[in-house]
Amino acid sequence: HVERLTPHNIDKVVPRSFPPCMRRLMEGLRSERHLKHWGRLQIWLFLKGAGMSMEEELSYFKQNMTLKATAFDKEHAYHIKHIYGKVGHMKSKPPYGCAKLMSGDAPPNPGPGDYHGCPFKHFDPGPLSQLMRRYNVPDGSTKKILDLVKGHHYQLGCVEYFRATHPDSAADGVGNHPNAFYTESCKYWG
Ligand code: SF4
Repeated sequence: HVERLTPHNIDKVVPRSFPPCMRRLMEGLRSERHLKHWGRLQIWLFLKGAGMSMEEELSYFKQNMTLKATAFDKEHAYHIKHIYGKVGHMKSKPPYGCAKLMSGDAPPNPGPGDYHGCPFKHFDPGPLSQLMRRYNVPDGSTKKILDLVKGHHYQLGCVEYFRATHPDSAADGVGNHPNAFYTESCKYWG
């Protein structure tokens, strides 16, 4: 059973079923009440892929970003409608897959103050271990993750993370697409 993501269940679902890339973006949104361009795009597309409707995304971000309602409508509402294919070239834009998020080329590699990208690819070992500890990954699994990442097997690092946080799961499709991670996790907990 895959529960459709909505503004009502999102707080419960983020720590349970969002991949680390998207969980960090949600934390960034919470702490800064703002995200930069690539971060917004990465999370908006993901949430769309997880089933949030355009109306829900518009109202959720309007409430959770520090911008006057009129500024939100001017700066962001058009972009959200655009990714749902309701304005502009009228084509719904697909969420980014893992390879794209790691490519360093649209989206570019994250810099200071950015929350987008993939922690397995873009974090140094120290911050990555801290993140894994904060996300309750046992030390033994974090060690395996760091070894995989050191060998440039970032996507396998994500699979290991999934297995550590979803014991005995098959982790099907994990490491290829953040939305596959989400779906697999919802099936596991459903
Ligand atoms: Fe997200 Fe993919 Fe990186 Fe996992 S491997 S954190 S799903 S980009």
